[in-house]
Amino acid sequence: MPGRDYLAIPGPSVMPDAVLQAMHRGAPNIYAGALIDMTASLVPDLRTVAQTQHHVAMYIGNGHAAWEAALSNVVSVGDTVLVPCTGRFGHGWADMAQGLGVETQVLDFGKNAPVDMGQFEEALAADTQHQIKAILAVHVDTSSSVRNDIHAMRMVLDRLDHPALLMADCIASLGCDRFDMDAWGVDVMVTGCQKGLMVPPGMSFVFFNDKADAVRGQVQRVSRYWDWRPRANPDEFYQYWNGTAPTHHLYGLRVALDMLMDEGMEAVWARHARLARAIWAACDVWADGGALASNVADPANRSCAVTALRLDQGRGAQLRGWLESELSLTLGIGLGMAEPGDPKRDDYFRLGHMGHVNGQMIMGLLGGMDAGLRHLDVPIGAGALDAAAAVIAKS
Ligand SMILES: *Cc1c(COP(=O)(O)O)cnc(C)c1O
Repeated sequence: MPGRDYLAIPGPSVMPDAVLQAMHRGAPNIYAGALIDMTASLVPDLRTVAQTQHHVAMYIGNGHAAWEAALSNVVSVGDTVLVPCTGRFGHGWADMAQGLGVETQVLDFGKNAPVDMGQFEEALAADTQHQIKAILAVHVDTSSSVRNDIHAMRMVLDRLDHPALLMADCIASLGCDRFDMDAWGVDVMVTGCQKGLMVPPGMSFVFFNDKADAVRGQVQRVSRYWDWRPRANPDEFYQYWNGTAPTHHLYGLRVALDMLMDEGMEAVWARHARLARAIWAACDVWADGGALASNVADPANRSCAVTALRLDQGRGAQLRGWLESELSLTLGIGLGMAEPGDPKRDDYFRLGHMGHVNGQMIMGLLGGMDAGLRHLDVPIGAGALDAAAAVIAKS
């Protein structure tokens, strides 16, 4: 298909040309020279993205690796963690903990609503012996597109004087939805490079504060590979990675961070919020036809990075198919919203609007969807694109 393809899925996200160009080079020296200095320069900018003064360990691996890395430093076999779930990724992190021999107390809030702070508080208040060592909280659950109030969880912990670590999965949200690690009292945060950070998949990060590092110091056995201490505080370059550096990813990440620093985090968050509102405006109008629906009813609980939608009669999958074959526009599949064999499974799909996105791309995405909905004869309200353009015009 002539023209550019558009991968509008919730990760991996669109890669800036500048990132790709920075990666397109020969193999650098990994013993001395520019790469070593450049790598050290990533750390302060990563801290700025996460809004933290504390530590960051870098890993070669995807988000699942960061899940395991974070857990490996602070919990041991037989410990208990509390996992409030609002979609598939919360359960995924719980599963990772179970694999490490950790007991998981799962609070399931379904797939359409955020963590209920009353129930969260009740579960913690019941833990009078402080058995719960950590809260595994997903900021934006990418499967449902629910965004949770991480700061509110901190306030609950503080009110109860509960010592559990607050651990946040910001793999979908970092660099998209506002996140303020230190001000929100987050002890550990995990993220990956292929969503808001705009780099091809392959690197992930664990941010941690001194309280979390003190817990790390008490853990009897920490996996050598996942240990965050040498990575966050290396004496030698290879200790950042516990082996060979992801050389080309580092060049890509350097440019991606330059882009974020140049724009400024407030502006980055505002851009994502504005583009998300344009998407929601179009979806609200399409939904007037009765066939399309947003997964999360209240905009206050929606992520600015990803939108989960459904289109009745299995037409979500049909829309995805048509857009990919006719327009080179790829939307995300539904994830964890219906069990295998459920005929509604094909209804679900998702839009990724994280990272390297702007107004004309989002208008293109929505215009493509409008064409696809018409092609499928889906009943829709009139004026979805007008509504989206009006949001963008106001900025
Ligand atoms: C993408 C994502 C993951 C998993 O990351 P991988 O890189 O696919 O392992 C975990 N949690 C959230 C919230 C995500 O968006």
